[in-house]
Amino acid sequence: MNDCKVPAENLLGDIGKGHIIAFNILNIGRFKLGAMCVGGGRVSLEHAIAYAKQRKAFNKVIADFGLVREKIANMATLLYVGESLVYRTVGMMDGALSEVDKSGADAMKETRKAIEEYAVECSIIKVWASEMVDYVVDETMQIFGGYGFVEEYPAERAYRDARINRIFEGTNEINRLIITGFLLKRAMSGQLPLMPAIKKLMEEVLSGPSMSEELEGPLAEERKLVGQAKKLGLFAAGAATQKYMQAIQDQQEIMGAIADMTIETYAMESAVLRAQKIAEAKGEAAAALPIAMTRVYLTQAMEKVESAARKVIAAVAEGDMLRTQVAILRRLAKYEPFNTIELRQQIAQKVIERGKYTLA
Ligand SMILES: Cc1cc2nc3c(=O)[nH]c(=O)nc-3n(C[C@H](O)[C@H](O)[C@H](O)COP(=O)(O)OP(=O)(O)OC[C@H]3O[C@@H](n4cnc5c(N)ncnc54)[C@H](O)[C@@H]3O)c2cc1C
Repeated sequence: MNDCKVPAENLLGDIGKGHIIAFNILNIGRFKLGAMCVGGGRVSLEHAIAYAKQRKAFNKVIADFGLVREKIANMATLLYVGESLVYRTVGMMDGALSEVDKSGADAMKETRKAIEEYAVECSIIKVWASEMVDYVVDETMQIFGGYGFVEEYPAERAYRDARINRIFEGTNEINRLIITGFLLKRAMSGQLPLMPAIKKLMEEVLSGPSMSEELEGPLAEERKLVGQAKKLGLFAAGAATQKYMQAIQDQQEIMGAIADMTIETYAMESAVLRAQKIAEAKGEAAAALPIAMTRVYLTQAMEKVESAARKVIAAVAEGDMLRTQVAILRRLAKYEPFNTIELRQQIAQKVIERGKYTLA
């Protein structure tokens, strides 16, 4: 492209600052990739359900077996969470963009700034949804059994096609580094109040055993869990930044673990907020399916958050300090488990009846 002549009216942004436009295109590209993975996952689940309803083994259709129903419930749950992430984020971006004066002299700059504000969310959606769809196509292949491996059936193609999503638009490793790097940079410069939040949490931790607030209204338990996940993330990030300060950028495994906690917490919160909104609008009975999916997801996400926090703490502390931090971690991660076997049965029942993922 050297010395390529471009008409002045075709110039995007400022001369020499094309990379800024390119980065923003990447942000939107990452968001769209995530939305596309949710769509692809839905199609894959439809294939899985249709096959499970007609394939018989041991005198039963395989859709009646608990372990097959569990997979179908897991897939539907992930699609619900994926949709929640995507709708929530695009809603926020839409809101920010609607504030931009499109006729103003700085319209382009303001638009760019509004999108940039959601760079972390776009990376989260890219990583989460590309890993989600790989899980969905993998379980679809499993449900197809031997035919899953055969090219003539749809499971094989979906399995092959889905894999690229973890690689392009920035590999998931690079996006994980972006998520934590961006947040820590803003925290250290004071643009994001993460440091005061970490300080407040440490004071709370040292002041006594009660570390979870009592909430009221629909999905109170679930909202409490989101609060606990946030505290676990802050606690682990606080311990890591205290040890490494700016040099934390070189600790990729820790950066990755903090990204995992961030991703899961955003997904948990998005699922809860959507179920809460439905429950408030239509009543808890009408929101039974999204609430069940939210509970199933929170259970698996909390395991990931706790495990990532444990990994970080074990890497930054030792001896008595490590033991103290593990005790705090256990307190922060404590909750009464949901009956996920029963919840998954309920989800599978509805999804199999309908032949697809839908909340309607
Ligand atoms: C079908 C397809 C379509 C594509 N379309 C486009 C397109 O339209 N536009 C475009 O610009 N590109 C496109 N690409 C390129 C794509 O974005 C790159 O392949 C991708 O970004 C990974 O870069 P790479 O292949 O150079 O891998 P590498 O950068 O060599 O990465 C190899 C491995 O090392 C890891 N790694 C690399 N650097 C680091 C690091 N700093 N820290 C930790 N881990 C690291 C990666 O995560 C990966 O696991 C496309 C690729 C394919 C396969």
